[in-house]
Amino acid sequence: MSSLDGLTRLRNRNSLIQRGHEEVARIRRHTTPPPAALACIMIDLDHFKRINDTWGHHAGDAVLVAASNIMMENARQYDEVGRYGGEEFAVLLPGVTMETAHTIAERLRVRLSKAKVIVDGQRIEITASLGVACFPSPGIENMNDLLKAADAALYEAKGSGRNRVVLATPAQKA
Ligand code: GH3
Ligand code: MG
Ligand code: MG
Repeated sequence: MSSLDGLTRLRNRNSLIQRGHEEVARIRRHTTPPPAALACIMIDLDHFKRINDTWGHHAGDAVLVAASNIMMENARQYDEVGRYGGEEFAVLLPGVTMETAHTIAERLRVRLSKAKVIVDGQRIEITASLGVACFPSPGIENMNDLLKAADAALYEAKGSGRNRVVLATPAQKA
């Protein structure tokens, strides 16, 4: 039970990272070079503090649950959705390459931006910024590299205007 987040019932950060290490090891075990891939999408809700400040903390909680449900509905059976931090989430996609992960991330972005989250009879609009990376790729040799690259891409998505998907580039690793 301790591997689940209490509010959203998603895997928590440690559990998600553990699953990532296992997937990377599984990919490595098969052949050299690894034929399969593991994509990671990092998601951070935009201006979430404003939602709390405007509608109250209970509304913020309801938004987190609604966003989690959308991420779960968007995921396939072998994907893993986790709550990475407060209003930050990560999705691991085994067997998914960068191009497909991009498509999935963009679809998720659109779904979040169209979500009808109603709290106390009020519609709360949400958007999210997303960063996408894929193992293996130049500079992404393990789970830590993958998380770092996805996080750097997410940071870029925030800085370049939010409500967008940014793909990691090898240069973004460090
Ligand atoms: P940005 O677009 O740059 O991501 O801005 P932001 O406001 O989303 O980011 P910031 O890090 O400034 O604020 C995140 C807020 O999320 C602050 C914190 O109070 C809130 N938060 C974290 N966990 C929870 C939670 O479990 N419930 C609620 N209601 N709020 C939470
Ligand atoms: Mg945020
Ligand atoms: Mg955040």
